[in-house]
Amino acid sequence: MMISLPACKQAQSLLNFPGGLNMDQFIPRRQKDKVVIVVGATGTGKSRLSIDLATRFNAEIVNSDKMQVYKGLNIVTNKVTEEECRGIPHHLLGTIDPDVDFTCDDFVHHASLAVESIMRKGRLPIIAGGSNSYIKALVNDDIEFQSKYECCFLWVDVSMAILHSFVSKRVDKMAEAGLVDEAREFSDIEANYTIGIKRAIGVPEMDEYFRNESIVDDDTRARLLKEAIDKIKENTCKLACRQHQNILRLQNQLKWNMHRLDVTEAFLKRGVEADEAWERVVAGPSTGIVGCFLHDHDINLVSAITAASVIGTTNATAVAAATH
Ligand code: ATP
Repeated sequence: MMISLPACKQAQSLLNFPGGLNMDQFIPRRQKDKVVIVVGATGTGKSRLSIDLATRFNAEIVNSDKMQVYKGLNIVTNKVTEEECRGIPHHLLGTIDPDVDFTCDDFVHHASLAVESIMRKGRLPIIAGGSNSYIKALVNDDIEFQSKYECCFLWVDVSMAILHSFVSKRVDKMAEAGLVDEAREFSDIEANYTIGIKRAIGVPEMDEYFRNESIVDDDTRARLLKEAIDKIKENTCKLACRQHQNILRLQNQLKWNMHRLDVTEAFLKRGVEADEAWERVVAGPSTGIVGCFLHDHDINLVSAITAASVIGTTNATAVAAATH
């Protein structure tokens, strides 16, 4: 089912009486264009959710992960594959020179351009990624963005213990898929891992291994590799905790109305059952939330949608009931 993006703007009348009576107060305010923002710690499923939503709402995705913006390290930074993209255009994904620092200001500039170009195509922009400092810079600190857009925040959340176990296994899979060779390409002779893509978790942790792999015996090499992989797991878990804390802080300090989707159930299941749980607790409710947001329906109805979807009502029925 594809849900169309409604006409978001209302014409703004410029009528003002010369005698000082300002007609603005009688005229409905110009409605802002709408943007969906998907946040969450690393590994929670932000990419999957944003692609699910993009297929349902005629949307395009703007990446807000500060390592995935760079060219290279596709495995290490866990970029979505072409197959996973399901034909949905992605912006700011693997486009930036890996040797430069892509700052918050750079992100605000490029993301704003991407959002405008998506809008011009009559599509919905979905900004998705784990770098909360980028999102804050764009949504909270950039007055121009604030004046133009209204945002709907979806927060993909997973119980930390479950997430730690998942990201640890993900690092093992990355290692099997070629993490070591990818990281070797970016290892630094001076051990300077403070610029550009070299800061990505997975590169500095391999430094000791790369310095010694050709001069040590097999056992030592295997031990060094295991230590590096363990360090990558540890740092990824720390990153997930930090990102989680940052989201809580943004929610409390900036009073962002975030819709939290608890994905834990889907993480605990396998195969078809996991897909079914994903649709029931994440994709379905998110579709309802975004549908309400786009059609200016009372956001309180969203909880009715979520409740309906939890007790098994199909998503389409729930949305229809809630938005009627
Ligand atoms: P901070 O202020 O801590 O940088 P942030 O919100 O700006 O927070 P994060 O996305 O949390 O940015 O990234 C912090 C650091 O975590 C990055 O500099 C990088 O070392 C690592 N990191 C983030 N995303 C990835 C990724 N996809 N792959 C590998 N490492 C990553």
